[in-house]
This record gives sequence, structure tokens and C-alpha cells, in this order.
Amino acid sequence: MTQQNIQVRNPRTGKTDYQFTPASRTEVTEACRQLRQRQEKWHAGGLERRIATLSAFGEALKGNYRELTDALVDDTGRHGISVMEVDSIGPAIERWIKIATDHPEPVMGRSGSLPFITYSIEKRPYGLVGVISPWNFPLTLSLIDAIPALLSGAAVIIKPSEVTPRFANPLRRIIAGIPDLRSVLTVIDGDGKSGQALVDQVDVICFTGSVATGRKVGQQAARNFSLAFLELGGKDPAIVLENADMDRAVTAILRGSIVNSGQACQSIERIYVARSIYQDFVRKLTDMANEVTLNTPDIHKGHLGPIIFEQQARIIEAQIRDAQAKGATIHTGGRIENHGGLWCRPTVITGIQKDMRIMTEETFGPLLPVIAFDDPDDAVTMANDSDFGLSACVFAATDDEAIAVGRRIEAGGISINDAALTSLMYEAEKDSFKLSGMGASRMGPSGYLRFFRKQSFMINTAATFTIDQFDEANTPKP
Ligand code: NAD
Repeated sequence: MTQQNIQVRNPRTGKTDYQFTPASRTEVTEACRQLRQRQEKWHAGGLERRIATLSAFGEALKGNYRELTDALVDDTGRHGISVMEVDSIGPAIERWIKIATDHPEPVMGRSGSLPFITYSIEKRPYGLVGVISPWNFPLTLSLIDAIPALLSGAAVIIKPSEVTPRFANPLRRIIAGIPDLRSVLTVIDGDGKSGQALVDQVDVICFTGSVATGRKVGQQAARNFSLAFLELGGKDPAIVLENADMDRAVTAILRGSIVNSGQACQSIERIYVARSIYQDFVRKLTDMANEVTLNTPDIHKGHLGPIIFEQQARIIEAQIRDAQAKGATIHTGGRIENHGGLWCRPTVITGIQKDMRIMTEETFGPLLPVIAFDDPDDAVTMANDSDFGLSACVFAATDDEAIAVGRRIEAGGISINDAALTSLMYEAEKDSFKLSGMGASRMGPSGYLRFFRKQSFMINTAATFTIDQFDEANTPKP
């Protein structure tokens, strides 16, 4: 059966200007078969060679900077963050190389109870790792798991989102220029069906996307007994205590809520503020939000890019309408603007009820609902009243006070007296709580070590055990 081409909308113009053919199940299966064939050599070549190959990849990205950045700009409609995405890959490679060299093998030891038995533990990479990525940071989220997986000795196949597929061609061209890399790293074009086919072929699937798809991917992987690392949605809360530095909190929360137009899993989507400072906070947040500009018509001017995925703009709009219908007050923004593509200004909202869609569903847009609390205990209860548990932030007079509140929040990454720090640094290990994900941390050393199975070699230096030692007759009677 011939595959239907997928038409792709440009987020700045709203017009369809790109198309591609999604990989069929047969093509995915064949790509995976080839990768598996070559993986053993890649692993056997040793860590030093893999480090050299990935360093060459980092260098090649610099050399092909323009083409890759331009494609990402077309995919996402924003320039600055696309440049940041490309710029961050080189340092990420360096970071993973350091982690890999910091974890040499084997680990040797001796049994505590039977000291004549020694052991050595070696790490064996999974053979084939699949990466399925979303559209909000197309390059970053395609490579974030791929680089440590490759360093571990696995082969990797990446399927980017069908919403932002343009960067795949320049990325493929860069990979093709590095022979060792192209044999073990494949980027395929595809949609959900291609993703489904991929899940059936790999030993580990690294999935970043929505809870709804993540649930399907997790179930499919479980049927195959393959490992699924799921990085899913969020509804991150911010808590601002009475004695917090107000200007710092407003500045950080605004940025943490609206950067990349709120299209980030770790966006702040619920803001709980002590009642005594609530009015002041809303006023300052509104004033600052009013200063924020859109990057249209000139892509090189303005803070916020378009909403990349048309359907997401509809979700954002529906959440605003739902809140209004239930009595909320909109202080800024409050609608989707059509400038060819679709934009949304920062939208500060008060008069919030907990059953509003804006409080229960992920928004993935620059909406800032602000809610007053009377007691920090209430703030913690409200922050935890969510199906999600990705990250959070707490503002207080001291870091210790904020940490004490943060410890009570059911989320993996807690920013203290700042917001959304998980998007700015990758060293701190953190797990997703509740529906925000499953599996070991993708940050820090765990992000590398999770791609290995452990294999132990046990050596008995004494005489072997005999079956007579297990004879009931030789067991003392009670
Ligand atoms: P999505 O779930 O719609 O799609 C993600 C990917 O899954 C796409 O590549 C898609 O083609 C593929 N896919 C669709 N159906 C599939 C199936 N049945 N089997 C396998 N693959 C399938 O998500 P999206 O709209 O692209 O991304 C937005 C979501 O991603 C938000 O919920 C956001 O919070 C989440 N996200 C999470 C993180 C994180 O680190 N936790 C980071 C970024 C985005």
C-alpha cells in the first residue's frame, strides 16, 4: 500500500507549504533491522570511539548551522529559541561524554556472606532505542535521549513529530557525513502510525508527548516487555508565600509561564499567591505581561512566537472561553490572534474555580490563572490537586523556607525562588510524578545509566557447593 503524503502547515503563515511521506510499518521494520545489525560493532568499538563520533557530530552541527536553524524556524515560527536549540546540542554532547567517562566499568566486589565469591558487574546496552518526539522543541527533544543512548553503545532511531518535520532533512544530511554515526543513528519521517510501528521494534522507547499518547505507547511496550520511558504533560503550580521577593517572583513566573508561548511541559500553569499580597501580585504581573510583544510581523522582534500546532490554539481558546463562561476575569490577552499564523498574548486570569478546564487540563499556552490562598497548607493542597506531577516552583523569604514547602509538593523538579529551572539545566536528576511520566530520570547520570542492563560475572574461588549440602538430613532439626 502506498503511503499518503502528510501536508504540513506553516505556523507563521497558516498555509500548507511542506509535505512528506510517513514511513510505513515495513520501512520502519527494515530500518530497525539494519540498525540492529550494525549495533554490535558500534558497541564493540568502545567508548573512546563513540565519544570521538559524537564529538564529530557536535562539530558538524556547527558547520551546518544555518540549514538546520532555518528548518527549525520554519517548523516553529520562532527564531531565537531555534538558535538556542541548535546551540545547546554541542554542550549537551560534552555533558553526556563527561557522565559516560565518570562511570567506568566493571564494578568489582566480593560477597559479604560468602567472601570466597567475587563478582564484577558490567553494563550491557540495550540494542535498539527508539525516540518519539513532540513538536514544541523539535530538535532538543529528538536528541535529548538519543545522545546518551548512542554513547551507551545502543543504536537509535528517531521519529520526530509530523507537526514539525522540516528539520529532519538537514539533520539527516549532517548524520550522513559521519560514517560511524550514520550506521547507528536513523531519523525517519512519520506520524502516529509510524510511531506505533516503531514501538514494536525497539528494546527501549523514549517517548515525549501527551499523556493520552504516552498511555498507548506504555501499554504497547508493556505487551512486548520492552522498556518505556515516558516524559509527558504537566500542569505546574507556582506557590508565592507572603514574605517572598515579589518582583523576583513576578519576573520569574511570567517568564516560566510564557517562554516559547507556553508550549513547554514545564510551563507554570497555576499560580497560588498569599492573599495579603495577591492584589499587588496580580497588578504587577498584569503590568509586566502587557509589556510582552509578539514576533509578528517581524520574526526578529518580539518575545512570543506563534502557537505552532493549530489544534493547540483551539484548546487554548476553548480554555479561555470556558473560564470566562464560569465567571473568570481576563486582565490581559484573552484571545487567539490571527496574523496568518495564530498567536496568543500572555493572559492573566483571576476569579478561578477549580473545575475550570484551565485548572484541570494541560494548556500548553501562555495562560496565567492566579489564585489566592490563606494558609500555605491550603496552597500545597491545591498545588497537589492535579493528575500531573512534573515540576513546580516555590517563592519564599529564604531558600530553606521555600524548600520546606517544596518537599510537600508531588512533583519531580522543584525550582526554589525561581521558575522552570528544569528547562535551563540538565544535571539534576528528577522523576515525573503521577501522570507526568514513567521511568528513570532523563536528567543527570541516570539519563545515561538507564540505557544499560547490568550483567554480573560471579567467580567462586573455593570448592563448589555440593547437592549434599542441601540434603534435608543435613539440616539441623528445630
Ligand atoms: P503527542 O502525544 O500528540 O505526539 C507526540 C509524538 O507521538 C508525535 O511524534 C506523534 O507522531 C507520536 N504518536 C502519536 N500517536 C502515536 C502512537 N499511537 N504511538 C506512537 N507514537 C505516536 O504530543 P504533542 O502534541 O506532539 O506534544 C505535546 C505534549 O508533549 C504535551 O503534553 C507536553 O506536555 C508534552 N511534553 C512533555 C515533555 C516532558 O519532558 N515531560 C517535554 C515536551 C513536551
